[in-house]
Amino acid sequence: MSNKAKPTSKGLLIVVSAPAGCGKDTILGCVRDSCRNLHYSVSATTRQIREGEEEGVHYFFKTHEEFEELIKNDKLLEFTEYAGNYYGTPKDFIPKMLEAGKDVVLKIEVEGAANIRRIFPDCVLVFILPPSFDELERRLKKRGSETEETIKKRVNIAETEMSYVKSYDYIIINENLEKATEDFKAVIRAEKLSVKRGTPVID
Ligand code: 5GP
Repeated sequence: MSNKAKPTSKGLLIVVSAPAGCGKDTILGCVRDSCRNLHYSVSATTRQIREGEEEGVHYFFKTHEEFEELIKNDKLLEFTEYAGNYYGTPKDFIPKMLEAGKDVVLKIEVEGAANIRRIFPDCVLVFILPPSFDELERRLKKRGSETEETIKKRVNIAETEMSYVKSYDYIIINENLEKATEDFKAVIRAEKLSVKRGTPVID
């Protein structure tokens, strides 16, 4: 008799949240280089494109009107307003990939992550933290892509986001990029070996 819960999806969905400026994209960039079989959900947003970002790679950049069309036409799994802009997860990509047995990474803020957990209860929630809030503010200023006011807004949001940490499965502190990247890969490895996910070897 097997007492393992049946996984609701074939692929693994890894949901990553991190206050802005935590180095989430840098960590995921390193993970991307060494884990070629991960697929990344690309969100839609109304925020300005930053230097180095590409349409369809980092985001689908939309006008306010275009984004509202997506909402109206039920094209998003979830969406939110964050620091004055809309962000939303396209509806089709994740279910299609999971059903095909592919592993997907979704970068999303805390309320969106909670909504995604409701839709995909066996997803894995990972929270990336900065070593401190002072360090977070310093990193945001160094990035130079936002005004003083937006930086303040993002640091305030980061403080609120901290209260969600307890509902996550794993916490990674980004003090050292190499270690944080290894920690992230260790989470994926552990989840792939997890009995509750019904690893193929048991069957
Ligand atoms: P940024 O402007 O720094 O790229 O993203 C701001 C915040 O929006 C980050 O916390 C990011 O993870 C989050 N975010 C990005 N895409 C989505 C999405 O599709 N849905 C939600 N709820 N948040 C998102």
